[in-house]
Amino acid sequence: MSHICDAIVVCCIDFRFQKFIRDWTDKNLAGKTFDLVGYAGSTKDLDTILKQIDISVRLHRITRVVLIHHEECGAYGSESTPDRHRNDLFKAKSSILSLNPHLTVDLYYLTLSGEFISVSNP
Ligand SMILES: [Zn+2]
Repeated sequence: MSHICDAIVVCCIDFRFQKFIRDWTDKNLAGKTFDLVGYAGSTKDLDTILKQIDISVRLHRITRVVLIHHEECGAYGSESTPDRHRNDLFKAKSSILSLNPHLTVDLYYLTLSGEFISVSNP
C-alpha cells in the first residue's frame, strides 16, 4: 500500500518553539499531511537532513519542503545570527533543489516571539 503526503517540515528540537510551529502548520498546512523532522540546529547537519528528505521523497512523494531555523539556537551557539541562519537556509535549499528540482522549498526564520519571517532568495 502506498501512502503519500504533501510536505516535509524540518525544524530544531528546541521545545520553546514547538507550539509556534504547531500553530503555523495548523494554519499554513491546513488539510495537508506532512512528515516532520526535529533535529538540533534544523538543517545545520545538512547531510543528515538531506537523507531524511530523500526518504520522504521516495516513500511519501512529497512536493514541498518547509525549513525552519530559529532565533537563539543552541546548536549554533554564538554563531546563531540571522545572517548565518539565512546562509544555511539558502545552502540547504540549493542542495535540496540540486537533488530534487521538482520540489518547492520554503525557508523561515522563527523569532523568540513566534514570528515566522519568510527568507527569500538572495
Ligand atoms: Zn535550535
